[in-house]
Amino acid sequence: SHPVRLIVVSNRLPVSLCKEGECWHVETGKGGLITALAPVLRNRGGDWIGWTGAGADVDLRAQLKAYSRQEGYSLHGVNLTEEEVHDFYHGFSNEIIWPLFHDFPSACNFQQAYFDAYLAVNRKFAQVVVGRSEEDDYVWVHDYHLMHLAQKIRKLGGERKTGFFLHIPFPSQDIFLKLPWRRQMLEALLEYDLIGFQTFRDRRNFIRCMSVLFKDWRQYGRGPVVHLSNGIRTIKVGYFPISIDFREFSTLARTRESAELAERVASAFRRRTLVLGADRLDYTKGIPQRLLAFRALLKKYPQLRTKISLVQIVVPSRERVPEYQAMKHRIEGLVSEINGEYSEPGWVPVYYLYRSLSRDELIGYYRAASIAFVTPLRDGMNLVAKEFCACNVDGNGVVILSEFAGAAAQFQRGALLVNPYDVEGVADALYAACQMPPAERRRRMQKLKTTVRKYDIYWWVDSFLGAAFGKKLEDFPAQ
Ligand code: UDP
Repeated sequence: SHPVRLIVVSNRLPVSLCKEGECWHVETGKGGLITALAPVLRNRGGDWIGWTGAGADVDLRAQLKAYSRQEGYSLHGVNLTEEEVHDFYHGFSNEIIWPLFHDFPSACNFQQAYFDAYLAVNRKFAQVVVGRSEEDDYVWVHDYHLMHLAQKIRKLGGERKTGFFLHIPFPSQDIFLKLPWRRQMLEALLEYDLIGFQTFRDRRNFIRCMSVLFKDWRQYGRGPVVHLSNGIRTIKVGYFPISIDFREFSTLARTRESAELAERVASAFRRRTLVLGADRLDYTKGIPQRLLAFRALLKKYPQLRTKISLVQIVVPSRERVPEYQAMKHRIEGLVSEINGEYSEPGWVPVYYLYRSLSRDELIGYYRAASIAFVTPLRDGMNLVAKEFCACNVDGNGVVILSEFAGAAAQFQRGALLVNPYDVEGVADALYAACQMPPAERRRRMQKLKTTVRKYDIYWWVDSFLGAAFGKKLEDFPAQ
């Protein structure tokens, strides 16, 4: 029998667009998801459906067709109007679901018009899916923009097997229940045949919310994939921590180019201990708290002054949103304050980069740094922590990781876990990292690398699809 065709659906297609004169070009986008899914789509046959990111007046069909021929699987664009982008994407997705699911209910802007647009756009995506797929195909839907897709597919009369993966956290019941459309949201998720979360904790939160709002649904079984059933319908619910292409990062980090770049960085910093933070500009990343912890370190342990520097990379993101602008100003204010307070001739405590680095440059920094400083207030997984491990060629790097990052579940024994709100505690962890004997550093890094190598992005794809197609799954990381 031929393998089941796969239809991948995500808000954005895995491409980036660039404009030369009047002409648009389509290029392969960044990120591990596309690297992992492209070969699966090529081998099984399949399509990727998503918004191109371009305005509704831009016709990219010819470009997508040419790109599809070259890549060996098809891309189909969903067109969104300006108003849809505003209400569905900026509104419901980024001003409601993003803050709520990251434990920031007070940052939510609950508006009925946003929810209406969310439903309409999910319906629009469903029409493309139904038009482009057959009953035997498996539809794999990604992330919080499309939680209602399976329900909309069914309402259009489409019978498809569907799976959903949530890349962000699922909040605890006290927070989730604040959502005005909480019942509709869970009801829509129950239309999927498989729901995947990042961690055991996210799945537990989801199941608790279910048991509060839907008394007739019960959990059956235990382990990484369990069943939820109301006696009529049964669905699978699992956790599948996403990851990176470990081998690719680790190979790139070992090239001569990376070694030279890392050497340039290290010597520019005169071989001081380099602490590295790298995040998109976002209030969930805890960058101000991290800077406060670094300041507390310099205050409490004056012997470290001139011996250590923090390099904080901030990748511009959602720059037009006022909250993000305010966050940028707060970060920049703190960086200046700390540098004003502690700089000495020949030493600056905080180096601040506000731009996106190429992957090669980033790998140079990963290799040069001896401490990864990863302290989000909440994070679905956090790939920076995993990439740092893959690039730690010396094998003696230390990871300081927030217990509220999804990665914490897998990094428990290797990283120094911290509460990012506890500024003094984080400063002490940083001090402990500086004092840690080399043997312990190596032992911990070895554990982290073993985990990230084994449970890489290919493991993630295989486990999710394995669960989708009813294979028994045995090999899962500790949670
Ligand atoms: N990244 C990048 N350029 C940079 C800094 C980061 O391309 O200058 C990438 C990094 O390699 C990682 C991603 O951005 O893959 C961030 O993923 P993560 O899960 O840590 O956070 P997200 O931004 O998805 O919330």
